[in-house]
Amino acid sequence: MGTTFRVLAELCEKLEATSKRNLMVEIVSDFLKELTPSEVEPAVSMILGRAFPRWDPRVLEVGWATLTAIIRRLTGTDWKTFNKAFAESGDVGSAVKTVFEASKLYKQATLLEKPLTILEVRQSFEKIAEASGKGSKERRERLVKALLSVATPLEAKYLVKILIGEMRTGFHEGLMEVAVSKAFHIPLKEVQKASMLMGDVGELVSLIKSRGKEALNQVGFILFRPVRLMMAQTAENVEKAIQEHGGETAFEHKLDGARIQIHKSGNEVRIFSRRLTDVTQSLPEIVELVQREVKAEDAIMEGEVVAIGIQGKPLPFQHLMRRFKRVHNIEEIRRKIPVKLFLFDILYRNGQSLIHKPYIERRRILSETAGGIQLTEQIITSDVEIATNFLTQALNRGHEGLMAKRLNADYTPGIRGKKWLKIKPVLEPLDLVIVAVEYGYGRRHNWLSDYYLAARDAETGKFYIVGKTFKGLTDQEIIEMTERLRKITIKKKHRKVVVTPKIVVEVLYNEIQKSPKYKCGMALRFARISRIREDKAPEEADTIQKVRAIFEKQFQKQQESRSLPGH
Ligand code: AMP
Repeated sequence: MGTTFRVLAELCEKLEATSKRNLMVEIVSDFLKELTPSEVEPAVSMILGRAFPRWDPRVLEVGWATLTAIIRRLTGTDWKTFNKAFAESGDVGSAVKTVFEASKLYKQATLLEKPLTILEVRQSFEKIAEASGKGSKERRERLVKALLSVATPLEAKYLVKILIGEMRTGFHEGLMEVAVSKAFHIPLKEVQKASMLMGDVGELVSLIKSRGKEALNQVGFILFRPVRLMMAQTAENVEKAIQEHGGETAFEHKLDGARIQIHKSGNEVRIFSRRLTDVTQSLPEIVELVQREVKAEDAIMEGEVVAIGIQGKPLPFQHLMRRFKRVHNIEEIRRKIPVKLFLFDILYRNGQSLIHKPYIERRRILSETAGGIQLTEQIITSDVEIATNFLTQALNRGHEGLMAKRLNADYTPGIRGKKWLKIKPVLEPLDLVIVAVEYGYGRRHNWLSDYYLAARDAETGKFYIVGKTFKGLTDQEIIEMTERLRKITIKKKHRKVVVTPKIVVEVLYNEIQKSPKYKCGMALRFARISRIREDKAPEEADTIQKVRAIFEKQFQKQQESRSLPGH
């Protein structure tokens, strides 16, 4: 008999009871050593609260309503017991455990059962996920009921947690990688890399168990398993991006579309969204294009799909979303909203991983592989003026801004680093009021030079801080400003001075972020003063309503792109 599910449930119970990371890692690491190769992936997945490996498209589709109905039937308990237990623990799993414990009906039924094993639980999950078509709902329910009816209360607690995807022991994937590193004496970095490539830490452990840790060296990309995406940080402007990248960088148009990762092997093509869900069905013309054009037997590439309007200009993002959301009448919507692909990276080609090659080399390989598919427009430069013109050109063509990519950068999956920087154009300036100010540091020690900027509430007339900056004014202006602010000081606290809202300044910024820092819940990013608006009174400053409107427009788009396909 294999390892019982009870042991796994007890382990999870220990994890839940502690917040000490080292202890958690130790417990799991010891447990991993005991398991057989075939048990280890299911066990790892379950500890992480998943029924299957991470990349696996199978889902259980058992809702809470279904589960409660089953549990009620099974235990015959008054549901008040559940509600009370839930109110006390705030945890569905724990409440289910209490209900099971309270049930006499259920105790009698399980008296003679032999213990569930980890592999049996996995098999049940597989059967539940496979139930499809007519009558599948009932089949699923029967299977869930059968599984729960042989579980102890503690086992039921964790089965339910996995079924509804709410493990909440605090033991996450990153810690699992640490536990694997410890259990098998493999440097953490190697574990992380292999786990990233395989797309699942559970499968990685099963490989180590069955083939030894030497097998890690041979781990490569697996086609049709999406790789986590490399992401970008924001740069204030092209000049900063050039500086950050060591004096020279590659700029590409930043297209206003949806990112996709394309996997190709022979004639088979699959496309994954930014959230790594399979969106192949929504984009048949991209599949055909890749089949026709790509000059490689096997490849993993990335690009941006853009919806195209009548004159060939990119359409706003919302149109593209309709393409992703639609699963029926694809042919019709394909005619209405044509899309175009621009490739910008290649991660893998014909058996060879390319992620450790520098950007510039990958780009060359990409251009050789892309056939007739266009790449994102790109320049390499160290010249701020040339870069600025390139940004203007991108904006004139209806794109979002630029991406700067460090020439020697490798592809770092799942990481939002500085090797890629996004540059969005400066938004329309805001006229804001200085409501408080701090003394600066170093040379500015005696100057009131760090300004709190506020927008006016059109309804109440109150001022709300939306940002802070020490940038933009000349030394002379700061000296004069210090004098003026001293005259309107209301109170002082350490290095901070609150002033009467009187002075209006024009402020540039690149983005408005959601932020808990200020009461209004928003904060300007990269704010800098562009001039002092001597001509404006505080009552004429921009309103918090206007700031919110700009923020919401931006936020809505971010939300949409995050919730894109499959969700
Ligand atoms: P953001 O979503 O604001 O973090 O910006 C990064 C996104 O820009 C990527 O995930 C891509 O979807 C998109 N993007 C547009 N053009 C490019 C490009 N040339 N290179 C990389 N990403 C791009």
